[in-house]
Amino acid sequence: VQSPNDLNAFWMPFTANRQFKTEPRMFVAADGMYYTTSDGRQVLDGTAGLWCCNAGHKRPKIVEAVQAQVAEMDYAPAFQMGHPKAFELANKLVNMAPEGMEHVFYTNSGSESVETALKIALAYHRAKGDGARSRLVGRERGYHGVNFGGISVGGIVNNRRFFGSLLTGVDHLPHTHLPEQNKFVRGQPEHGAHLADDLERIVALHGAETIAAVIVEPMAGSTGVLLPPKGYLERLREITRKHGILLIFDEVITGFGRLGSSFAAEHFGVTPDIMVTAKGLTNGVIPMGAVMCTAEIHDAFMNGPEHVIELFHGYTYSGNPIAAAAGIATLDTYREEGLFERAAELAPYWEDMLHGLKGLPHVIDIRNMGLIGAIELEPIAGSPTQRAFSAFLAAYDKGLLIRTTGDIIAMSPPLIIEKDEIDRIGETLKDVLTSID
Ligand code: PMP
Repeated sequence: VQSPNDLNAFWMPFTANRQFKTEPRMFVAADGMYYTTSDGRQVLDGTAGLWCCNAGHKRPKIVEAVQAQVAEMDYAPAFQMGHPKAFELANKLVNMAPEGMEHVFYTNSGSESVETALKIALAYHRAKGDGARSRLVGRERGYHGVNFGGISVGGIVNNRRFFGSLLTGVDHLPHTHLPEQNKFVRGQPEHGAHLADDLERIVALHGAETIAAVIVEPMAGSTGVLLPPKGYLERLREITRKHGILLIFDEVITGFGRLGSSFAAEHFGVTPDIMVTAKGLTNGVIPMGAVMCTAEIHDAFMNGPEHVIELFHGYTYSGNPIAAAAGIATLDTYREEGLFERAAELAPYWEDMLHGLKGLPHVIDIRNMGLIGAIELEPIAGSPTQRAFSAFLAAYDKGLLIRTTGDIIAMSPPLIIEKDEIDRIGETLKDVLTSID
């Protein structure tokens, strides 16, 4: 019998001696838009791996760059020494990022990028002599990875409840989803900008002089594709600026073309002080993340007279040559193939396909933006993940990979997707939704 527990087992498929209760679903190869399963079937990748393979799989330029780099120089330290590709990639990132993002810190994942960003925010205030600014503000239903800082500012109570109080002094803004008002809205919802004003409540409660930073995903991805209402991010920017609070955008999912622009910051026209990235940076090929920040923030703690050595932060594998080579080839692929523009062009077609599923059994909401989308299903009483899990299994049987979170189906296909593949996703989902209980 398949159950959600079996699905969870797939989060840890490498645990020795793990006994699967069911035949595992195994991928053995990947190319372009498709995975090949161990029993020789082709599965259309509706999720770009885990929202990371934005250029599709096994792209020749990226494969060749990685192979060439391994053959030339496998590793070089990023402390005291350097190597050209780390700088080349940093320059490319700065050039594609919104105006003002001038410095890059390398990490190995989204979770590490989050920790790095939070430390940068705290160090910045300390370096300015503003050490009382130590509180952090996240958002309900925010996802910022699984390390201690990330689960503290993250808005998933289940992810932190085993660990007692983690970072001290964390508050959460309300999430931005107003189910009754936003039902079946295409793109950005009209209502809910006022939810950003909750930051004023937090400021009034603790005093602005105690708050270091606010971290949000511009569009919450893994908790169900929750789109920012019109004006919300602008208001958050206004309030943070007014009170000297740093604004951090976690662009781990929204970065690198997902919304039809380099970053969500550009898409929404709101520039944060610090930007967190990973995933699409290397197209999922090699683990790598990058945090970008303004010159003011960087200079405060790197050059401040008493604080030069106060921030020691970095990882053994930060900016390592193979990841850097993969990153350069990935960003070149995005640019040469015009994939971000392609995502923007395909977005209306994607939107029409998704919203064409309105009225099918179980569907209670549909959300979309760029090439990301979610279909929320009516939960089965007492079993709030079962229906989406059934949809996941049925879709997999029909050769389509989707993701589920709670009873929400989420999709974020590689940006190389063709219109007929979007049609196929629509037809498969129609079959799936009419066939499950
Ligand atoms: N932040 C966001 C917004 C994410 O979506 C994720 C991963 N889904 C992370 C951070 C964590 O990234 P990683 O799994 O690479 O640590």
